[in-house]
Amino acid sequence: MNAISNAALSTPLLTPFLVERNKKHFIDGRWVGSASGECIDTFNPATGGLLATLARGRQEDVDRAVRVARQAFEGPWRRFTPGQRQRLIMRFAELFDKHFDELTLLESLDMGAPLHTRLRPGKAALVQTILYYAAQARNIQGETPHNSLPGQVTTMILKAPVGVVGAIIPWNGPLFAQMHVLGPVLATGCTAIIKPAEDASLTVLRTAELLVEAGLPPGVVNVVTGIGAEAGAALAAHPDVNRIAFTGSTGVGREIIKASAGNMKRLQLELGGKSPDIVFADADLDKAVPGVAMGVYGNSGQICFAGTRVFVQRSIQAEFLERMSAFGNTLKVGDPLALETDLGPLITQRQLDRVLGYVEQGKQEGAALVSGGRRLGGDLANGYFLEPTLFGNVSNQMTVAQEEIFGPVASVIPFDTADEALALANATPYGLASGVWSANVNTVMKMVHGIQAGTVWVNCYGMVDPAVGFGGYKESGYGWKGGAAQIDGYLYQKAAYINVTA
Ligand code: ADP
Repeated sequence: MNAISNAALSTPLLTPFLVERNKKHFIDGRWVGSASGECIDTFNPATGGLLATLARGRQEDVDRAVRVARQAFEGPWRRFTPGQRQRLIMRFAELFDKHFDELTLLESLDMGAPLHTRLRPGKAALVQTILYYAAQARNIQGETPHNSLPGQVTTMILKAPVGVVGAIIPWNGPLFAQMHVLGPVLATGCTAIIKPAEDASLTVLRTAELLVEAGLPPGVVNVVTGIGAEAGAALAAHPDVNRIAFTGSTGVGREIIKASAGNMKRLQLELGGKSPDIVFADADLDKAVPGVAMGVYGNSGQICFAGTRVFVQRSIQAEFLERMSAFGNTLKVGDPLALETDLGPLITQRQLDRVLGYVEQGKQEGAALVSGGRRLGGDLANGYFLEPTLFGNVSNQMTVAQEEIFGPVASVIPFDTADEALALANATPYGLASGVWSANVNTVMKMVHGIQAGTVWVNCYGMVDPAVGFGGYKESGYGWKGGAAQIDGYLYQKAAYINVTA
């Protein structure tokens, strides 16, 4: 697709960032068209209307951005002290706070998350996340271990930024997802090329502009837009990129591992999930029902840690299904910009078709469709809206219980004992997150220790704090996101043996 004229656009102009709808890469602090001159279209999922065009990045564009990021790494940025980096991140937090309404509106238009019930309430958490990384800039330390070597040898372990980081992020929440790369990049003194998803790149482009406004030297953070198999693959394979931080599907994660082998890049991979959320008969259902439901339906199910396998103790299964279905029916699905909307559309027609395919397969394999399962029509017919969907009497072997659906589809699977729940919860190649609802501390502790997943939420679901962090077991990836372990991933470690003969 070539550049568009404003007359061709079907989403009205709502933010100044969209005055220019033909978006370019952001490289070296400037807007740069793709070497080929090619663009890709990006749509508003609530209306199906054309929102903007993005530059279609390929090898040449990635090469250019990596060259710039390398130069920036060797340039004045290198001389920023930890205190200066901290100050810069804090200025960025202030600007981000100031422009939050604009950024969330852009995000909502771009990927369909409800503006008032989902994106805007996340302000404090987002700003706090940036400020957490500001503090990390002052918290990087080496070590001076005492050694048992002969003579007068002093030993030190030094830390240094790894260099150029490639970040490949998904469309389901780019505003937040980018922070977990920008934060450690800026805190440690690395530089970055971000490759946002082709379906939602706009807030990442706008954020890059704000970073320069905050005082970041041009070239420290660059954004190359484009298609995963082109721009993403070129970044993952690039010989001068030192680390890749990837969030996305397990299948693409495998491709990234292969592509990164050439120069042995450090990797952080946050991949897919099929997370169990386990409800015991003694749980407080007034909390568990909405907690479990929003753990699946939040962001229309387009969350890697969605608790889509809902294990419910058999004695309360009927009551739970009835209450969860009733709760699902109270959720307002519709225009993401409307005040009362709880759930927006899915990201694309393709994704909607995929999810509807899983709903059909669930029915065919014998799961009981309790509620939902249909695309919404009427005023919403041009967008990709799906009712919150609930299956009961699912078995853990069914496709809907094994594969990541990435849509608002919950599968309730009955169990009898805690041991059985644990065995079923762990019977998956994934291990991203999990939930447990119970008033019994013994049950809770048994599950906390037994579940093979990077996070266990007890009597809650979905909270994440950057000081605690997030990561996966098994095929949900590796490399912790948040906490000291994450910062270490952006640092080389170097041992120095200093033999000083006095
Ligand atoms: P989803 O299926 O949810 O879109 P993906 O894993 O396909 O998740 O996409 C996550 C990110 O990975 C996006 O930015 C996408 O463009 C990128 N991507 C997709 N395929 C590749 C690839 N082969 N190499 C590198 N990046 C890719």
